[in-house]
Amino acid sequence: MKSAMKPILKLPDITVTREDLLLIAGPCSVESEEQLFAAAGEVRRAGYRFLRGGAFKPRTSPYSFQGLQEEGIRLLGMAKKEFGLKIVTEIVDIAHLDLYADTVDILQIGARNMSNFQFLKQLAKAGKPILLKRGIAATIEELLLAAEYLTSGGNPHVILCERGIRTFEKYTRSTLDLSAVPIVKKLSPLPIIVDPSHSCGRSDIIIPMALAALMAGADGLIVEIHPNPQKALCDGLQSLDFEQYREMVLKINRLRPYLRDVKQGKEADDEQRIPE
Ligand code: PEP
Ligand code: MN
Repeated sequence: MKSAMKPILKLPDITVTREDLLLIAGPCSVESEEQLFAAAGEVRRAGYRFLRGGAFKPRTSPYSFQGLQEEGIRLLGMAKKEFGLKIVTEIVDIAHLDLYADTVDILQIGARNMSNFQFLKQLAKAGKPILLKRGIAATIEELLLAAEYLTSGGNPHVILCERGIRTFEKYTRSTLDLSAVPIVKKLSPLPIIVDPSHSCGRSDIIIPMALAALMAGADGLIVEIHPNPQKALCDGLQSLDFEQYREMVLKINRLRPYLRDVKQGKEADDEQRIPE
């Protein structure tokens, strides 16, 4: 088997290889059945299979919406059945593993927990694939070492996520460090996806950054979408509405044949070569 065909994610009924895109979308937080089902329907119609939605939210302020918690997991379970989707949600407490067992397909470790090494050691034994986000002040090396807590602890099914780092720049929420993508590819066999939502913090530049991430070699994206971003209880400014999501998917789908060729290492056609 060519290394390019290596699966980046294997679930009982879905295998995602390096030639596929792992496109995860959904609301920042699960807010209601209506909101979650609307987003799930969009993901399904777009032809993708992975729904994100936070139930236990790690908020910077204790006064901000903390997520629907147990009720959020219940709603994610309903959306999973109703739409045949795989569920990605953040885990903030090892004690929640039982609650997540039947519903959650990929455990997200958030930026704030990337350096919680005891938690990483516990999650290495969780028996589910993990999406590990880069900390806001973590170097690429620190991200890779955090991943090794999971892999050396017994879980090889780790997907890295570049989600921006904190810099002096004010026009974006974080600075999307796209150089992390090709660097990780040089240094690690682990797949890496990009989160343009939390890095940019503003919906108007998500599409170009999402496309740039794929061109840089990312294996996928995780993007926040909401039926009515102005009314979102969390991260509305960076959430795509459904029209923007469809535009992004359309543009990604146009790129897909090209991306597949690049990942398979296909040579340029003769007529595409620059004459010597
Ligand atoms: C999220 O995905 O909703 C989130 C909180 O992300 P991060 O950990 O990257 O801030
Ligand atoms: Mn969010």
